[in-house]
Amino acid sequence: MSITLLRLGHRIFRDQRITTHCALTARAFGCEKMIYSGEKDRETEKSVKDVVKRWGGNFEIYYEKNWKNFLKNSSQKKILLTMYGVNLPNVIDKIRNESDIVLIVGSEKVPSEIYGMIDYQVAVTLQPHSEVAALAVFLDWYFKGKEMDIKFSNAKMEIIPMEKGKNIKLS
Ligand code: SAM
Repeated sequence: MSITLLRLGHRIFRDQRITTHCALTARAFGCEKMIYSGEKDRETEKSVKDVVKRWGGNFEIYYEKNWKNFLKNSSQKKILLTMYGVNLPNVIDKIRNESDIVLIVGSEKVPSEIYGMIDYQVAVTLQPHSEVAALAVFLDWYFKGKEMDIKFSNAKMEIIPMEKGKNIKLS
């Protein structure tokens, strides 16, 4: 099973925080990597890589200048998250049969050429909100909550869950 997140239209000054949150959410909820297009941003890449170094796993982040070529050349099923799509509960059972997926989220405006390049478009409610929320809810439904128990290999930091307070095991 492999899920890649494609984050479209990254702008360094406006989207740094949200793009980083997309990457961290993708990692925490079971994606293998995030590819982003728009402006190349070494700072965002570094902050995601720093999290992976400390918290473990093999999540990767790559820049792709030409997202159209990337999609054309990818054999993965392409799923666009958009409020204009089919509402998640009505399509998720079908999508769960796909194990090799590119999930696509936009930033300000999604280019209309994308509609001819995707296999599914999925709405997480038919209301406008956020790429981070759409991503998290989609992945949680896709994995049926199993992502809550992912163990990350080679973690230098690991949380010991507590009812109150915080405890981090360092190794
Ligand atoms: N007006 C923009 C558009 O044309 O798509 C909305 C951009 S929204 C701030 C950024 C991204 O969040 C969208 O491209 C989409 O991937 C995701 N998103 C926002 N609301 C969503 C929803 N209800 N369902 C699925 N994805 C959503």
